[in-house]
Amino acid sequence: MHHVGNQQRHRPSDADQWVFTGDVKDNSRFDGDCAWCEKQDLRLTFEVRQAKADRARHVCRACIERAPLRMEHESRAFGVQQWRDYLSELAVRLMHRTCRDVLRTLLTQIDDPALQEVAVYFDRNVQLSLGRAATLLLALSHSQLEVDPRVFEVQIRSAAHKQEFAFLSDREKLAVWPVFSVTIQKRLISLGFAPSTIRSRPHVPEIPRKRDWERVGFAGPPA
Ligand SMILES: [Zn+2]
Repeated sequence: MHHVGNQQRHRPSDADQWVFTGDVKDNSRFDGDCAWCEKQDLRLTFEVRQAKADRARHVCRACIERAPLRMEHESRAFGVQQWRDYLSELAVRLMHRTCRDVLRTLLTQIDDPALQEVAVYFDRNVQLSLGRAATLLLALSHSQLEVDPRVFEVQIRSAAHKQEFAFLSDREKLAVWPVFSVTIQKRLISLGFAPSTIRSRPHVPEIPRKRDWERVGFAGPPA
């Protein structure tokens, strides 16, 4: 039989032994990893325990949705779809709370009416328009907060959004750039809307990871 080496990393064999503790962690630097499938760079991890042992493991969303464990929490049992909906609801609520916390912390550091307006907008819409994202992510890049800008969702689907991006300043574009997927980044490059430092490059950049913020112009927190 193949031996994995690290004995802590294995999928559970007995479904009845594992339970979800109800704790979800938002790794807001995308530095979580899954104890069962070894997936890395995770934003969210879910805490599970063996019912009769105390040691907790943190696992990814796919594992807690599909791995054999008791689909229950606080004496409430779930069907498969209910279980997924329940986890999804927990995840969304936590991700929004993190964003609100980041905004609130920034507001204690920076006295800017524009940033206050962003916070109000986020409370109502739980995502950000480009102009607001630029205001927020520039402030975040100048703060000491250890938060990956990708915790925020930015609207860029429509042609109007892309036009709105085109009219941002280069500094603003660079602050927002890391939150976009490679597909969106490629699209913006092909439209000629990318920040000038990115446009002048011969190759398409990879997804900016946490240590690469500086590379694409995002100041990020100090090392
Ligand atoms: Zn996993």
